[in-house]
Amino acid sequence: MKIKNAEILCVGTELLLGEVVNTNTAFLGRELARLGISVYRTAVVGDNSSRLSDAISEAMANADLVILTGGLGPTYDDLTKETVASLLGLPMVRDAEILREIEGHFASMGQKMTENNAKQADIPLHSIALPNETGTAPGIYVEKDSKVLVLLPGPPFENKPMFEKYVAPRLRLCSDATLVSHNLHLMGISESEAETRLIDLMRSSENPTLAPYAKEGEVRLRITASAPSEEMGEKMCRELMDAVYASSVGEFIYAVNCDEPEALVIREMAARSLTLAVAESCTGGYLGKRLTDVPGASAVFLGGAITYSNEMKMKMLGVSAETLEKHSAVSEQTAKEMARGVRELTGADIGVSVTGEAGPSCETQNPAGTVFIGISSADGESAVRLTVSSRRPREYVRKVATSRALREIIDFLRKK
Ligand code: ATP
Repeated sequence: MKIKNAEILCVGTELLLGEVVNTNTAFLGRELARLGISVYRTAVVGDNSSRLSDAISEAMANADLVILTGGLGPTYDDLTKETVASLLGLPMVRDAEILREIEGHFASMGQKMTENNAKQADIPLHSIALPNETGTAPGIYVEKDSKVLVLLPGPPFENKPMFEKYVAPRLRLCSDATLVSHNLHLMGISESEAETRLIDLMRSSENPTLAPYAKEGEVRLRITASAPSEEMGEKMCRELMDAVYASSVGEFIYAVNCDEPEALVIREMAARSLTLAVAESCTGGYLGKRLTDVPGASAVFLGGAITYSNEMKMKMLGVSAETLEKHSAVSEQTAKEMARGVRELTGADIGVSVTGEAGPSCETQNPAGTVFIGISSADGESAVRLTVSSRRPREYVRKVATSRALREIIDFLRKK
């Protein structure tokens, strides 16, 4: 069977009410794109059998593949399986293997399985039960009238591993095309400027496509090719990547296919056996958090100081009263002294500081959105000013400030 396109239906009233953010669609959209399957439409449906039934019929009329998430559990509002079985006219049968697994799961916790839990082992006739290695409700893979329906549990930590292990390999066999994607990471240029410089190349590139997108202070260019084989897709992407490198944005590319700048910082510093410490004011520990999100950060990151008040900047980091008086806490001089202070305090090879006005109100003469980032090393100190539009909310300013600080570290390492 060939699968070219898909629809994703997420089931759950909590999603409609905005109580839970629908991350399953984002995950499945990315995964299906990688498999070369085009997603035509996505929808969210409440826990209501007749509306769900209508949505599934519509999706089956539009697409070769319908993926549903949620509503597979043991409680009365979990209707997905029964709705699909009744729509397809398939009776439910109890899967002995899955029943044993569920019994084993409860036994391992010293609990007795209740009848509603046993019901989770019921699957529509002729369908394939997909083991749930991180929960109890199995997934279901069923084919009917040249259409494929895949039912996955709602919780992301259950459906993600199930999709990767039991669904993707099946779908790969049904897809003709492979999508190959690469991301170029840029710094020092805005999204609109990058787009202006690349507009001709973007217009002339249909396959592979070239698309810029901004992610809180970072600009990325995504190149995606649809090809009959991975090898061919790679070749097509490589050609377009070369053209981008040769264009006037080429000099702004600092990494290719790097997950996050913090991961790049940790990797590059670990490779050079360098250590890092941070001094944060307006970001309140957010830079340290991003760095410590990276597995293996302990090889590089020594620690940080959150010095929000002037007094703490002086006490912990040795920023001089004169500097604060003369230039204010949000200044190039203070950023430099903070970076040096934390480097000396911790003995790190590199000290990085962030001090700014996150807004909406301001403590200094600077407008909201003004941030200084300092870097200190054995070679001395430097600082840069970042200006974020004062229309941006506080949270945005703080995020962009940390992104810029990470990129300053990358830039510093590259220049060394
Ligand atoms: P369970 O066996 O846990 O009952 P289920 O398949 O019945 O799984 P639901 O009851 O629909 O799943 O949802 C359980 C939880 O999974 C939700 O409360 C929510 O936290 C999460 N969840 C469900 N759908 C989504 C989604 N589309 N995106 C992100 N999280 C989701």
